[in-house]
Amino acid sequence: MTSRLALLAAAAAVCAISAPARADDLRGELAGEMPGLMELYRDLHAHPELSLQEVKTSARLAGLMRELGFAVTERVGKTGVVAVLRNGEGPVVLLRTDMDALPVNEQTGLPFASKERALSDAGVESGVMHACGHDTHMTAWIATARLLAERKGEWQGTLVMIAQPAEELGLGALAMLEDGLYERFPRPDYAIAFHNSADLPAGTIGYAPGYAMANVDSVDITVPGVGGHGAYPHKTKDPIVLASSIVLRLQTLASRESDPVDPVVVTVGSFHAGTKHNVIPDEAKLQLTVRSYSEETRKSLLDGIARIARGEAIAAGMPDDRMPVVKPAELYTPAVYNTPDFTEEVMDDLRQRFGSERVVKSPPSMGGEDFSRYRRADPDHVRSLLLWVGGVPQVDWDAAQKGGKTLPSLHSPFWAPDAEKVIATAAEALTATTLRLLPRR
Ligand code: ZN
Ligand code: ZN
Repeated sequence: MTSRLALLAAAAAVCAISAPARADDLRGELAGEMPGLMELYRDLHAHPELSLQEVKTSARLAGLMRELGFAVTERVGKTGVVAVLRNGEGPVVLLRTDMDALPVNEQTGLPFASKERALSDAGVESGVMHACGHDTHMTAWIATARLLAERKGEWQGTLVMIAQPAEELGLGALAMLEDGLYERFPRPDYAIAFHNSADLPAGTIGYAPGYAMANVDSVDITVPGVGGHGAYPHKTKDPIVLASSIVLRLQTLASRESDPVDPVVVTVGSFHAGTKHNVIPDEAKLQLTVRSYSEETRKSLLDGIARIARGEAIAAGMPDDRMPVVKPAELYTPAVYNTPDFTEEVMDDLRQRFGSERVVKSPPSMGGEDFSRYRRADPDHVRSLLLWVGGVPQVDWDAAQKGGKTLPSLHSPFWAPDAEKVIATAAEALTATTLRLLPRR
């Protein structure tokens, strides 16, 4: 205890020098807890688990939350955890962490690098790595829970902290909601999460009000043809030529049909056909990822893809009963929408706390995040915010700014964030925001 107090005092002294407007005891306390938190982080990092296999990870988080006095329910949406702390009348704040890692062979060279291997659902064995930094999310989530549990006298309302599985598959949020997250547990007024960022220096907070991440649709197109000998194309309907013209015409959805200030992406990521030089096959297969922000734009893209596939097949002389089959996947990831006025309010407050150079507007991205579903499930009621916390170590950031270094992205086997800064910044931001949203009355 004494050493902890000494650490607190030392941290407070440091804060007093570099302090922004409101360095309070949160920062000092976090500094004191950081050695223990980093131990947790390194352990989570060394033992990652793939999506929907987060068995040990979720049990560990559940145990820690129980120790803090939360009412904990496990196996919500397969491996999800819901931890509730009721503290009188007041609003409900939901704080999410994700838990899953990726099938990536770690190459960071860190002393606590993962050596785990696992089988994916498709039966492919590979290394496993927290290459998306969800280990920083979990550690900051535990740190936030601890700070808020200790400060029960300073806030009033209900805290719902959830550990979500399978973010990487875009399945976990839906699994938890379908397992009664909003029926069996208090329904949130506010839903908040953060993601570490490989595009911001460590300790910088980034945010985009409104649409922040995209609708993500996967579309399969099967293009039929009439196969035959490569020397006699006039006796065939070549599906490779037809599918190629579909691929090219699809580009006009972005370049000619969409409003230039409303971003869209139509990427054909897979094109498969044929077996041999001199055989014209009887089928080609395409796989697309389709990205948008609004629901209207999403619909017009999906309609456009079906129209173009059919139109090109008609132009190629395919009969009516041999049209391409266009199949959007049933499950898509909806766009992340940060409630604008709520987002600005929170960021104004964080700017006061961290200083304006550490809280910056980030451009929205065309990536996907199923955090969007927590707002989607009750859009008139839930105000939501997904913020970024920069993880790029300062030396690497400075080198990259000078043009001397290419930075690894999220999902890279080399992604090694400055975890200490990510965790400290995120835990302070989430705790301070929750305290503000749940004032004592
Ligand atoms: Zn990821
Ligand atoms: Zn992620």
